Amino acid sequence: MAARIGALEAGGTTLVLAVGDAKGNIKEQISMPTVEPERVVPEMAQWFADKKVDAIGIGAFGPTVVNPNNPDFGKICFTPKPGWSYYDFLGNMKAGCDVPMGYDTDVNVACLGEATFGCAKGLDSVCYFTVGTGIGAGVMVGGQLLHGMLHPEAGHILLNKLPYDPGNSVCPKHTCCFEGLASGPSIEARWGAKAVDLADRDEVWELEADYIAQAIEIYVTCYSPEKVIIGGGVAHQEQIFPMIRKKFLTYLNGYLSTKELDDIDNYIVPNSLNEKQGILGCLELGRRALEG
Ligand SMILES: [Zn+2]
Repeated sequence: MAARIGALEAGGTTLVLAVGDAKGNIKEQISMPTVEPERVVPEMAQWFADKKVDAIGIGAFGPTVVNPNNPDFGKICFTPKPGWSYYDFLGNMKAGCDVPMGYDTDVNVACLGEATFGCAKGLDSVCYFTVGTGIGAGVMVGGQLLHGMLHPEAGHILLNKLPYDPGNSVCPKHTCCFEGLASGPSIEARWGAKAVDLADRDEVWELEADYIAQAIEIYVTCYSPEKVIIGGGVAHQEQIFPMIRKKFLTYLNGYLSTKELDDIDNYIVPNSLNEKQGILGCLELGRRALEG
């Protein structure tokens, strides 16, 4: 009988739970709000136990400890979310459903989902980032999701703030980081409306595309990905992609020449799995945990 794999995509506002198989077929899925962990984690563990899953893959909001060799593996770090700071997420999931578990960040599993089932299938070096309430990046290098001392926090790279930008960074730590200048709350603070209601305002997207292009230039030169995938609300603004590609090539200024860059329309792309890249990545992470 095919293995039953549990997938848990733990976002900052919503928790998505699914059961599926190793081929990426989801058979059942539910979601619940991200309330205090003491209330919701035992309930989730019980749900998976009732479904008799053989393994679970968890993609968690950060910051969190994703290195299995770290004694704090599976714990959430400091966070403003009530009850979650220093919470032993993985340990408490295991207490309620003792099966092999994979654990990584929400953006790393989205990257894994695209590299396993989506537009980056077959590639081993991929950069995925999401522009929404926050900005986070998942990075796969040589087939491995990048962790390092913690995990990438590539939403907080410092960019050149444009002189004609009428807004200010909304990041409490940085006056010119990517998240501070280009996340959903930043767009809303600058223009006085939500991004989704600004679709026809060219100046909004020209500015947004510029910051995204600056970030991609840094990611490409640092990580050398074979594809760059953009998720989150901004990826739904299709008009922004031609602007991003053009500005990115301008910033790169011919410094690199590769076959991937020659095909820029297929190099910088929106996510390809209908917002299922995260949960499908969790499924793959669970499959890998089962294989050991
Ligand atoms: Zn920042």
